[in-house]
Amino acid sequence: AREIRLASRPDGWPTEENFAFADVELPSPSAGELLVRNTFMSVDPYMRGRMNDVKSYTPPYELGKALEGGAVGTVVESGVDGVAPGALVLHNAGWRSHALVSQYTPLTPVEGVSPSHFLGALGMPALTAYVGLLDIASFEPGETVFVSGAAGAVGSLAGQFARLKGAGRVVGSAGSAGKVAHLTGKLGFDAAFNYRDGAVADLLARAAPAGIDVYFDNVGGDHLEAAIGALNNDGRVAVCGSISMYNEKQPPPGPRNLHLLVGKRLRLRGFLVLDHYDRFGAMAAEVGQWLAGGKLVAEETFVDGLDNAPAAFLGMLRGENTGKMVVRL
Ligand code: NDP
Repeated sequence: AREIRLASRPDGWPTEENFAFADVELPSPSAGELLVRNTFMSVDPYMRGRMNDVKSYTPPYELGKALEGGAVGTVVESGVDGVAPGALVLHNAGWRSHALVSQYTPLTPVEGVSPSHFLGALGMPALTAYVGLLDIASFEPGETVFVSGAAGAVGSLAGQFARLKGAGRVVGSAGSAGKVAHLTGKLGFDAAFNYRDGAVADLLARAAPAGIDVYFDNVGGDHLEAAIGALNNDGRVAVCGSISMYNEKQPPPGPRNLHLLVGKRLRLRGFLVLDHYDRFGAMAAEVGQWLAGGKLVAEETFVDGLDNAPAAFLGMLRGENTGKMVVRL
């Protein structure tokens, strides 16, 4: 078995040197445990935070120890009654070829749906998009929604959920012309812009001339400031993430226009998906139907091989993914 460990903590942008590979003996499951061969593992932005030695909502990764993260795999050996070899499970011991797990979610394979979607369109990112849009931002049909990081895992779903739920207008931002074409083409966004093409406030004003009602924030920084400027009265922001800041050594200045919250009666609300698993069933039922009916595009970018997982993670931070970045083992 092979695993990837945290070799050192990054200061600013992480590099391959922050990761180390180790070959370890294949473990045997005790009672209550499963030995799983991982087939897909997730790389997610929150993992960047766990590489820092700071107190947060999840504990930091430990130096010299294997990293963790969402993974899907097949049971090889079972110490659990009722779980047979060959069963498909979701668990949190990614970043390794084989995992010994006692906490896992049994998965029912869906015909025609790759199990990798349990890490994306049928998993944590989908729940994040669903809860953020519907519960946190209290989206209503007819409203104009702006999503940043719109070509990524969470953003591409948030924008499509808004369209499928009857948004008046869906606007997205992403970091390349190709991604912008993907948003307005395949994903059915009404307008999109490349945030590298100018000041975000100007680009957003052009894409949403009548303003926005909801902002789904994956990026923070200048995107958040631009959105506050563009929000209509009683507008809402689901503060989901701030990826523009995760690799910065100094935090950039906050939005300079927070005073607008008063006059426009705006609401900004942060949330963590892990508090909202009571909504998983509702999300999965709705998203499952959209997927089966061909109404939702669940794009994935695959990187092959465990040894390429650090490159996949770094690539995701740089924007090399369209849709969910997944490592195929
Ligand atoms: P993505 O699939 O969106 O991948 C990250 C993307 O971020 C890249 O593809 C890149 O796209 C974009 N990006 C990188 N740097 C910048 C930058 N400086 N400015 C703008 N965009 C940038 O990741 P996820 O969908 O998994 O996560 C999206 C956000 O949601 C993150 O902020 C994450 O932390 C957050 N999140 C929050 C959760 C919660 O519980 N609150 C749960 C899950 C995710 P591009 O080419 O467009 O730059």
